[in-house]
Amino acid sequence: MADIRRVIGIDLGTTNSCVAAVVGGYPQVIPNAHGYKTTPSVVAFMEDGKLLIGQHAKRQALINPSNTIYSAKRLIGRKWDSAETKRARSVYPFTIEAGEAGEVLIRQGDRLLPVQQVSAKILEELRKVACAFLVDDVWDAVITVPAYFNDSQRQATKEAGELAGLNVLRIINEPTAAALAYGHAQKRNATIAVYDLGGGTFDISVLEIKDGVFKVLATAGDTFLGGDDFDNRIIDHLAEQFLEENDIDLRRDRTSLQRLKDAAEQAKCELSLLKQVRITLPFITQGKKGASHLEMTLTRDDLDRLCMDLIERTLKTCKSVLDDAKIDKADIDDVLLVGGQTRMPRISDSVSNFFGRSASKQIHPEEAVAIGAAIHADSLVEASSETLLLDVTPLSLGIRTAGGVFTPLIAKNSTVPISQAHTFTTVSDQQKSANIQVYQGESPFAVENELLGEFLLSGVRQAKAGEPEIEVEFSIDANGIVHVSATDLDTGLEQSITLTTGEDADEVGYAHADNEAFEVKLAHQSKTDELKQELRLSLHRLRKQYEAKGQNLANDLQKRILSILDHGPGFIQGDDGNAMTKLKREIQRVLQRFD
Ligand code: AMP
Repeated sequence: MADIRRVIGIDLGTTNSCVAAVVGGYPQVIPNAHGYKTTPSVVAFMEDGKLLIGQHAKRQALINPSNTIYSAKRLIGRKWDSAETKRARSVYPFTIEAGEAGEVLIRQGDRLLPVQQVSAKILEELRKVACAFLVDDVWDAVITVPAYFNDSQRQATKEAGELAGLNVLRIINEPTAAALAYGHAQKRNATIAVYDLGGGTFDISVLEIKDGVFKVLATAGDTFLGGDDFDNRIIDHLAEQFLEENDIDLRRDRTSLQRLKDAAEQAKCELSLLKQVRITLPFITQGKKGASHLEMTLTRDDLDRLCMDLIERTLKTCKSVLDDAKIDKADIDDVLLVGGQTRMPRISDSVSNFFGRSASKQIHPEEAVAIGAAIHADSLVEASSETLLLDVTPLSLGIRTAGGVFTPLIAKNSTVPISQAHTFTTVSDQQKSANIQVYQGESPFAVENELLGEFLLSGVRQAKAGEPEIEVEFSIDANGIVHVSATDLDTGLEQSITLTTGEDADEVGYAHADNEAFEVKLAHQSKTDELKQELRLSLHRLRKQYEAKGQNLANDLQKRILSILDHGPGFIQGDDGNAMTKLKREIQRVLQRFD
């Protein structure tokens, strides 16, 4: 018998992870040693040096909060100074610190661990689960990430796989994996929306399935909105009520908070089936009059009320993804719900209302992603595969150009893999080097986007500003990972990097950012292009000012601004130079009203 190459698909979740494989032509989820199909993404470091992973780790979290690491996915590939990390720092009971390259590290005794190392433990555990079930050694895996993960987060996830000893065949997006599972079960052409709300992230993607080709039309999301936020709403609600009655804030005590957190999540899950639950936490704290107990009732209506704005936020993103995909709600044939949090009835109702159709029952919300990853892993090693994945990049990719401007070179929602080259030139006379700073994001100002890395192209031919030609080539591979190279077209000098999660990014130091001697700008840019860029920046400035201080302005002026914000982008799309110049002056005038 020919050797079978065993491959697995892993859904590395914020809260729970899941592993699947195609066995005898059928994709199936592999249960762990406890018989559960999902394993908590929790790792505990014990005093005796042992590690606990999954159920065992979760179970002892209450008595060992500072050494029990959960939700590592929220931190993976993030910079220490990102808003998301700041938020996480205030809620995690374990200690996180900044690494030398600005990355996030987790403290364990006298050791500092990169987040990847913690995620690697979970991946290693899932690999063992698969080996035991398949009675075979397995090394090849496809791992999934939220579609909205940027380059650093993807790189870090791949590194976690490698640290776990896995051969990472591919990193694919969770909604695309869910669509593969759906396509496998349905076997028909369709345009579908995948609404994915897990423990820590939200994604919405629109895909077209046609004759075995899975093409993502658009994707959008929020990497910091998930089930945990729903839990936090319950925690605050219970804690505020307790504070009022007992004058004690339970959120100030680590153990009480951990118990409250567990109870909140449990209540939330129970309210997916029941209309009302009773929350009882005896001896939750010690007050002046002795031990205090928490006893409260929470109804499904309470939960819906507490979380309505979170659901609304997801629906807003659904609307924008349809605009990006240039399709109408009516063109969606099916809506898939993925992620544990979508079991909340108000969520499935709201999503069904939004799309005007009930969600598909064809796939299991917590298993579909791993199943899809397994199907894809199988197709990568099976020559007979009939499926083709065409995914998109969720964020625009570009470089910082003169004046701190973000110049996108690959637009968001472009199909990957993709490669694009653009020519840049120097900003000052006799400029010897060019600092290429690579960013991902949607703001026209570079610093408002995520810096992926930077490198210095030195030895540029010294000439008048604007004369040298530097070609920068960007490519995004099928994993969504970015590679960049820069070539001085005069000297043929070339530098290329694969952006990594830290070390290289700091080589040049950010001090150069405002230094003209290192700046570049697009070569051969027409006057119209320059005008468009200026307009983009001023519209962005106006939008920000309006969001911050707009309410204080007279009604008429507010209307004028809203009309500019509404119609402005349309002018930039067109080619009417006069209209654009007029718009520029108009924006300048209204901007002065904020001074
Ligand atoms: P995932 O990342 O897909 O594993 O989703 C985990 C999130 O789903 C966590 O926030 C869980 O609390 C939440 N979740 C799991 N089961 C349910 C349920 N029955 N009802 C509501 N939320 C749930």
